[in-house]
Amino acid sequence: MAVKHTPTKEVHKGAKGGTAGCGFDTRKNPEHWVTTSERITCAKNGCKN
Ligand SMILES: [Zn+2]
Repeated sequence: MAVKHTPTKEVHKGAKGGTAGCGFDTRKNPEHWVTTSERITCAKNGCKN
């Protein structure tokens, strides 16, 4: 599952309503996050792997 951070257009591993693989909390700014089926583009540990 992947979640997109719309201000940066970066796609992270994880799901809306939880924490992204690299540690972003999608609950802090829920309007910035959308569930997506796009390929993960975040290169940070936890998302990339
Ligand atoms: Zn990430």
